[in-house]
Amino acid sequence: MPIIIDGKATAAKIVEEIKKDVITISENIHRKTILALLLVGEDPASQIYVRSKSKRCEETGIESIVLKKDASTSEEEVLDIIQSWNSDDTIDGILVQLPLPKHINESKVLYNISPKKDVDGFHPENVGRLVAGLPTFIPCTPMGIYELLKRYEINLNGKHCVVLGRSNIVGKPIANLLYQKNPNANAIVTICHTGAKDLSYYTKQADVLIAAMGVPELIKANDIKDGAVIIDVGINRIPDPNTAKGYRVVGDVDYNDVINKVSAITPVPGGVGPMTISMLLLNTLRSAKKEIYK
Ligand code: NAD
Repeated sequence: MPIIIDGKATAAKIVEEIKKDVITISENIHRKTILALLLVGEDPASQIYVRSKSKRCEETGIESIVLKKDASTSEEEVLDIIQSWNSDDTIDGILVQLPLPKHINESKVLYNISPKKDVDGFHPENVGRLVAGLPTFIPCTPMGIYELLKRYEINLNGKHCVVLGRSNIVGKPIANLLYQKNPNANAIVTICHTGAKDLSYYTKQADVLIAAMGVPELIKANDIKDGAVIIDVGINRIPDPNTAKGYRVVGDVDYNDVINKVSAITPVPGGVGPMTISMLLLNTLRSAKKEIYK
């Protein structure tokens, strides 16, 4: 029977661990741990994400400051807000919800967040530290994948991991994590992207396949090797008239097609997805503890 990697249960366990840690840290630093979130504009999905991040903070005892600005807010004003949060010693983590309105340069904003408070791990300094194998803030989704692999004791040492997707948010950071020389990694990593002419040539070689393309159910049983571990990051809505909402959410891997061929798999939903916010909380704690930047 394949192992179904339960991200929901693992994330809930991590949240319980964080709750205990938050109390100890507050006692040590004589104040609350604080995450500041900036939301610019009225994008409905972004509003939901910010609300759930803030809610999860409150559940663990981390205080969240949510600042909502309308879509016409200037880039200068956004940079001023970041600057004031950078210099506020009581703020441990800063998160700017993406996407930003078109007139605001996203990279410029992200690069202006202090690397020491960059709990999303998008600042070039933290990206560089990840590549160099130094302590750093790791982007939350890849960090969640890494944590799942670790907690399910999936040995990566010398294994061939094939990553599908090269985004800065998922593909590149997870690839960089997996080849690092440490007991929970040390894998041989291949990265595939839209340039791959025959994707299944690569996927069939994967001991561990990490799919982060955003292409619904592209990977079938014929594309994988027997006993592969599948980490499905994709979150795709496909029409389904049999559901109340008229759609359902699927991954990049055809779960029902591959299930009898895999040794372990993350379901969608309930696999990688629930891990992301708990990793944001963990990064905020790491910042409060000054674990990365002393
Ligand atoms: P992206 O669009 O930025 O990147 C997709 C990558 O996949 C690209 O690098 C592209 O080259 C590659 N790709 C696309 N089609 C391909 C194909 N046919 N063959 C080979 N490579 C192909 O997306 P992203 O932000 O990295 O997200 C990827 C997926 O993961 C999406 O479904 C997204 O919703 C999901 N996601 C989930 C979480 C979470 O679980 N919390 C977080 C982030 C992203």
